[in-house]
Amino acid sequence: MSDKPEKFIDENGLRLDGRRVDEIRPMKMEIGVLSRADGSCYLEWGKNKVLAAVYGPRELHPRRLQKADSVLIRYRYNMAAFSVEDRIRPGPSRRSIEISKVSREAFEPVVLTHLYPGAVIDVFAEVLQADAGTRTAAINAACVALADAGIPMKGLVSACAVGKVDGQLVLDLNKPEDNYGDADIPMAMTSDGEITLVQMDGDVTPEEFKKAIEMCKEGCRQIMEIQKETLRSKFTKLEDVDISDDEEVDVSSIVESALESSENDVEDEEEAEVESGDADQEDEVEDADEDLDDEPESEDDEDEDLDSVESHSDFEAVELVEDFEESFTDVDEEDATEDEDDEEKD
Ligand code: ADP
Repeated sequence: MSDKPEKFIDENGLRLDGRRVDEIRPMKMEIGVLSRADGSCYLEWGKNKVLAAVYGPRELHPRRLQKADSVLIRYRYNMAAFSVEDRIRPGPSRRSIEISKVSREAFEPVVLTHLYPGAVIDVFAEVLQADAGTRTAAINAACVALADAGIPMKGLVSACAVGKVDGQLVLDLNKPEDNYGDADIPMAMTSDGEITLVQMDGDVTPEEFKKAIEMCKEGCRQIMEIQKETLRSKFTKLEDVDISDDEEVDVSSIVESALESSENDVEDEEEAEVESGDADQEDEVEDADEDLDDEPESEDDEDEDLDSVESHSDFEAVELVEDFEESFTDVDEEDATEDEDDEEKD
């Protein structure tokens, strides 16, 4: 017995879930949901629920797997055993191995891989609930997780499928359309419309195929907006704290007060000495004296104060670089053991 619907598109041009033929399912994303991953993203797209996690770049063990001129990207797409109605047998299957390979190839072109020779970036996409279009959903989440991990990329990649039901092309297939439709064409694209993944199941004419690409472009454009908005939300939260602005205000107020006090103290030097019983004021006078010693004029003083602020940021930058380098040495014990085994074999 088949659950195939009699009609996929009604007389008003609406699909079984009420969408128009060129409409994608509602999508929402959340970034940075896993504290132990370097980058992560949770995505809901229709009834699909996908979690993507990125670890790295970190040193790759065993060393024989290292690439001399680029980072190695590993991608694992996995459907949780409970993600579909009938339990899926846990572990890799032919389907998941194939999807992992083609999906990695879909986003790898935008990653600046040459920046981390000898390192590895691990990307995991776990499908928690599946309802058609999980490979494209996983690519969309993985790209945001990569950006969340701070992996340098030329841009984002977005993915979406086009299919054919009732003789018409439809964007972003739902489960019955995927199961019983005449065609399923998942695609991934860069922001320039460069196609990095096309797969096809079923039959379409060459004209339909061209139209499918155009429909998919529009779907991917909408998805990329959501991806960008998700990334922006993270940095908007940082902006709310206004760290940079505070620093600016502090710098200028420090400079201004230093200049003011130096000017006043030229005039009131003696007065200041008389009132020197107050410890705080004594400090102020000393500071002012120092400022006066630091001839020449006020503009130079300002430059000098700004220089000292800059060197402070340099100091923080050094700390950040050190932290980053330390993260490279944070290698999985398992991998390290494997590497030792390898060396022994060698
Ligand atoms: P995609 O999820 O990328 O569209 P498929 O076209 O292979 O990939 O699968 C379509 C849908 O079929 C999946 O989203 C999922 O809901 C269901 N499905 C896939 N594999 C299985 C499986 N082994 N057992 C049960 N349902 C599955």
